[in-house]
Amino acid sequence: MAEAKCAICGVNDASGVGEHVWPKWFLKQMDASGKPPNAWSRNGKPILKPGGQQVKLPQRTRVFLPVCIPCNNKLGARFEDPAVAAIKQLAANRWAGSHSATEWRAVGMWWAKIGLMLGHTAASYNHRDLNDQMIRFEGRPPDYSWMVDGSPPPNHLSVFVHHTSMQAGETEAVLGVPEHVQRFDGSVSVSHVFQIATPDLAVAVVSHPGMTIVHPLVERGEAWELLRDPPLLGDLASLPQFGHRRVVFRQGLLVNEGFQIDSSETSRLLSIFAHEIEQAPEVYPGYQPEQPQPPRWRRVMNRVLRRPDS
Ligand SMILES: [Zn+2]
Repeated sequence: MAEAKCAICGVNDASGVGEHVWPKWFLKQMDASGKPPNAWSRNGKPILKPGGQQVKLPQRTRVFLPVCIPCNNKLGARFEDPAVAAIKQLAANRWAGSHSATEWRAVGMWWAKIGLMLGHTAASYNHRDLNDQMIRFEGRPPDYSWMVDGSPPPNHLSVFVHHTSMQAGETEAVLGVPEHVQRFDGSVSVSHVFQIATPDLAVAVVSHPGMTIVHPLVERGEAWELLRDPPLLGDLASLPQFGHRRVVFRQGLLVNEGFQIDSSETSRLLSIFAHEIEQAPEVYPGYQPEQPQPPRWRRVMNRVLRRPDS
């Protein structure tokens, strides 16, 4: 079998079985703190084994991504080294602890890396049912090149965090993130969302090219965006605790550049409509991920108008 290509640079062969998405030191520390307290869910629905029981594991799941050695070294230097001290302290204390803006930004970069790698289509979970059912980005992938070529993080990449219980809780706002954005130059950009909930910490990694996001909890000072606006000296435990689905991101349709994502009725309706579209089966069985994708509604319409051969 040919070696898989590196998921980050796409050029070099990946090394061995791939690299840990959750770093080994992090898994070791978390496993030492006890079994994972919660069973696995996806979008608020339990992930089930074939027998119908919810997947609940005695230790944290290992996730691997094919990455070459040079990229892995660069990822380590850029995302692990600056964050490791703060993450170790926070993870040992249910994410409580005061840190500077620089440290929180490093924590945000660490979560950005985790979210973007977990969402990669080549991410592989070491548990069959999770591997079959976990969410990965569809269609055109997000930009990974900045992670290893020295560029700053894209200004449309956001990492939102809030203090959470492990209850889903009441949802205050559904933020519909349009999947495709028609740019002023006529090109179409694609958005990506990855949400992670762990005891006391809810994280949303959102790539939203050509759009701004007004996050209601951040607006009220009850949550943070870590990449551009980390707290000056912040302790997550000082923020109000909400259910992890207090603010839910959901991917939607096509809008024009400049669109503002907020908790308004328009955004909400967009997200509901998009949710229905999400249920439609995929078309374009042989599509090329590198090609610009037509918007999802167009793909669905094409299917209605002209059933693909197969
Ligand atoms: Zn590489």
